[in-house]
Amino acid sequence: MFEALSSKLNGVFDRLRRRGALNETDVAEALREVRVALLEADVALPVVKELTNKVRDRAIGQEVIRSVSPAQQVIKIVNDALVEALGGGEGDTGQRGLDLNAPSPVPILMVGLQGSGKTTTSGKIALRLRARDRKKVLLASLDVHRPAAQLQLEQLAGRAEVTSLPIIAGQSPLEIAARAMDVARRELYDVVILDTAGRLAIDEALMAEVAAVKAATKPHETLLVVDAMTGQDAVNTARAFQDKVGVTGIVMTRVDGDARGGAALSMRAVTGAPIKLLGAGEKLDALEDFHPDRIASRILGMGDIVSLVEKAAETIDKAEAEKLAAKMQKGLFDLEDYAKQLQQIGKMGSLSGILGMLPGVGKIKAQLEDANLDTKILKRQAAIIGSMTPKERRTPDIIKASRKRRIAAGSGATVQEVNRLLKQFDDMSAMMKRMNKLGQKGMMRGGLA
Ligand code: GDP
Repeated sequence: MFEALSSKLNGVFDRLRRRGALNETDVAEALREVRVALLEADVALPVVKELTNKVRDRAIGQEVIRSVSPAQQVIKIVNDALVEALGGGEGDTGQRGLDLNAPSPVPILMVGLQGSGKTTTSGKIALRLRARDRKKVLLASLDVHRPAAQLQLEQLAGRAEVTSLPIIAGQSPLEIAARAMDVARRELYDVVILDTAGRLAIDEALMAEVAAVKAATKPHETLLVVDAMTGQDAVNTARAFQDKVGVTGIVMTRVDGDARGGAALSMRAVTGAPIKLLGAGEKLDALEDFHPDRIASRILGMGDIVSLVEKAAETIDKAEAEKLAAKMQKGLFDLEDYAKQLQQIGKMGSLSGILGMLPGVGKIKAQLEDANLDTKILKRQAAIIGSMTPKERRTPDIIKASRKRRIAAGSGATVQEVNRLLKQFDDMSAMMKRMNKLGQKGMMRGGLA
């Protein structure tokens, strides 16, 4: 559901990445674009403001990790702010997934507008609780306004292979709810899912009915079902239900459609209630847990860039990296430095592992794996450099045929491998010189990311 937002943000970050070093103006410009992208995705204005302010403060206050591109640093900051907006920040105690931690039978009350997917979601939850969690589930429809709704739930119960409360015509919602709880207690059900009447729009009378059912059954979870496709309306609906009835969590349906995603991003901030589940299709098994961090990286289309930045921050010796960067800029980068860089990369784990965390490199990664270019190659190159004399490392130009043979023999490599390493180093030095001419800074970035 986040495709459009995702591609907009990616455009912003691509431009940022091409800049290399960043100044405050670059960051401000990128932030302005992020803000427009969020607004276009229908994210509520106060949420957009809070999010962009947070990113600005952090981006400017934060020391950029030299070895990772500053653009990625900004992306990481945006990512963290998104996770927080989605309710996944550190210290956010919002319960993820359903909370069934109560004496049986645990009542779950389903509320929401008509057509939001409430009845379907009741069936989905019933199926999951029975099949995955081995719970004994009773489904009951309290919709006395539309008899078809009761039949629909009965059918869904059949498909989910759980029991539904026998329909007795003429009973009030409160009577049905009481009967459901009674049956559940006597027949030792673990969970009772009470599907309330839908409404086409926020309607005081129906709202009062739901509130009365809630007061009588004291549900452990009151789940509001909203349709992601309705955007800002979904947020307004949620606010109304939160005020009038009080909900413990939100289920967002139709995330399989092309909803712009703004509702998901606004929900937590506007209602205070966490999104707990996502409905991603009409089938009964199309129910997903809501993971703020995964949603954020889906929005950013970032693969696992976040882990990469964290890993780089953990493993890269900053002082060493600064020294190297300075040497590169002066064109003094030699094989000794190259060996050090290999070591740093080695510390971060396998090369294909690192590449796997980068967005859009699936193809390159496969090629590399084909060529078996991985830690093995890094280690071999380090060994080749290891059998050079210090003079050879500082001035690789002196390495001619006989030295090559000696180095190859000393490191258990072939002369071709020594050639390949020297060629690679030459190419790298040439590229650095070119980039220095262009006046760009921070060569390590080119080496790692
Ligand atoms: P209710 O009136 O709130 O109970 O809504 P229903 O459960 O009857 O759902 C209305 C329509 O939306 C049905 O055709 C469902 O199959 C469909 N629906 C429900 N959830 C989803 C979902 O997550 N994705 C898609 N694509 N359709 C859904």
